[in-house]
Amino acid sequence: MPGAKAFHAWAFRRLYEYVEYKATEFGIPTKQVDPAYTSQRCSKCGHTECGNRPKQERFCCRKCGYEVHADYNAAKNIGIKHVHAGQKSSRGRVNRQLALKSGTLNVSDGFTSAEVSA
Ligand SMILES: [Zn+2]
Repeated sequence: MPGAKAFHAWAFRRLYEYVEYKATEFGIPTKQVDPAYTSQRCSKCGHTECGNRPKQERFCCRKCGYEVHADYNAAKNIGIKHVHAGQKSSRGRVNRQLALKSGTLNVSDGFTSAEVSA
């Protein structure tokens, strides 16, 4: 379909604008993160390969065996990228952490689980 790629980019930009607008209303800062490999990377051990995705919705790490919903794994990777981006900031060291429903991510790749098992 001609123009499909441009439409996708436009729709994605609109979605980001809506999220940014709503988040700002609640005092929540937003930041864009490069999504490269976030769906293939293990959020637990960092091992990255396309074989970690046996099915569209399933993530299963071929190195450490971590198994979780693929979207949740990707969301954790995006969170980790965001936390690390703060560390590399030119404004100096920023102590970022990210709260998830299942626990907390911090700059040293640490994940503190809020539950016994995710
Ligand atoms: Zn792993």
